[in-house]
Amino acid sequence: MAVTQSREIAAAQRLDNVRYAIRDLASVADEINRKGHKILPLNIGDPLNFDFQTPPHLIEAVYKAMKDGKNGYAPSPGIKVALDAVRAEAARKGLTSVQDAFITNGVSETVDVCLTSLLNPGDNLLTPSPDYPLYSAILTKLGIEHNTYALNEDDGWQPDLIDVHKKITPRTRGIVLINPNNPTGAVCTRRMLEAIAELARRNNLVIFADEIYDKLILDDDQHISIAAIAPDVPVITFGGLSKNYLAPGWRIGWGVVSGDGAQVKPYVEGIQRMLRARLCANHPEQYAIPAALEGPQDHLIEVNRKLRSRRDLTMQWCNSTPRVSCVSPRGAFYAFPRIDIPEGDEVFVKELLVRKHVLVVHGSGFGQKPGTQHIRIVFLPNEETLQKAYSSIADFMRERYK
Ligand code: PLP
Repeated sequence: MAVTQSREIAAAQRLDNVRYAIRDLASVADEINRKGHKILPLNIGDPLNFDFQTPPHLIEAVYKAMKDGKNGYAPSPGIKVALDAVRAEAARKGLTSVQDAFITNGVSETVDVCLTSLLNPGDNLLTPSPDYPLYSAILTKLGIEHNTYALNEDDGWQPDLIDVHKKITPRTRGIVLINPNNPTGAVCTRRMLEAIAELARRNNLVIFADEIYDKLILDDDQHISIAAIAPDVPVITFGGLSKNYLAPGWRIGWGVVSGDGAQVKPYVEGIQRMLRARLCANHPEQYAIPAALEGPQDHLIEVNRKLRSRRDLTMQWCNSTPRVSCVSPRGAFYAFPRIDIPEGDEVFVKELLVRKHVLVVHGSGFGQKPGTQHIRIVFLPNEETLQKAYSSIADFMRERYK
C-alpha cells in the first residue's frame, strides 16, 4: 500500500486575527517557571488565584444538586429555579420590561449566542476601545466587521459619545457597553447611560450591557443598569457567577432580554434556537444561582473592602511613579495605567516578565488610542504581593529608561 506523506493541518484562516492578549505571554511565563523563578501574576482576573474563596453556601447547593441526581442534561434555556432567581434579580436592578432570560456556560457563551443570533454578513457592531478581547474574537469568528468606539481617558474612560455617534452606519445593529469596565475599571454615569440609550433608541440598536462586575463597586457610585433607565430599548443584560460570586470555574452566566415584547420577539426566538442547538449550560452548577442571588451576600463586603484597599495602593503607586498615570478604577479589579515610554507596551511587558518576573498585559492587546501605551494590572493579589510587584516595575523602568 502506498504511504502518503502526512501534511500539516492548517487552522482556519478566519482565526488569523483572533487574539487573547491576556494569555499571550503564557509560554514565556512557563519557561521562566521551569527555570525555578516565581512569577507575580497580575494578568488574569481570577479571584480564586488569590485570597478569595467561593462562598460555601454556593458549593453546598451544587454538591446537593449532584447528590440529588441533577447530573443529566438541563432544559436548554436553564432550570426554572435559576431562571426565577435571575428574573427576580433583574427586578431588583430596576428592569421593568423583561421579555426573556436564559442561562449559559459563562457570560462568554451568552456573548457568543447573542452575537451569533443577531448579526448577518455586512452588519457591524459597536464595541469599546479598549475592549475585553472576547467580543472581537467572536466577531472575527462570525466574519463581522469590527466597529470600535473610543473610551475617553481624559473623561475617566467614559464612552466618547461623539465618536459613538460618528461610527453608527445603516448596518450598525448594536452597541456593547461594559459597565463596570474591563480593562479600565470605569463605571458609567447615569447621564452617559441616558445618552447611549437615546442613541440606541434613535438608531434601532440592541444594547449589550455586560454587567458581570456590577456588585464590585469601589466608590460611592451606585451601579445603574442601562436596561433600568431605558425599558423601551432592546437590551440584553449579562451577569454571572464568575466575578461577583467568585466561581469562575463553574462557567455560569446569563442573559436578560428587556425592551418592547413585539420588537424583540423574533430575535429572542433566534437566541432560543441557538440555545437548543447547544443542549444546555452546566446543570448542577445552575443550582448555585438561586443560592447566590437570594442567599447571604456577606462575602461582598469583604471582597469590596479588600479590592478598595488594593485599588488605593495601586493608585498611590501610579501617582508617585515617574512615567505612570492612571484614572482611578471605580469598579471591578483592573487598573489601566498609561505609561510614558519610548517603546511599544508589548515589548515593555515581555521584558518586564523576563527581567523582573512580573506579569501584566500590554494595553495594545485591548486596543488603545494610537500613540499611547498602557498596561492592564489585575489588583487582586494581597497588599504585600502588590507592593513587591510595583517596586519591581518601578525598578525596571528606572533601569531601562535612565
Ligand atoms: N465579560 C467581561 C467584561 C469579562 O471581564 C469577562 C471575564 O473576565 C467575561 C465577560 C467572561 O465571563 P465568564 O467567566 O462568565 O465567561
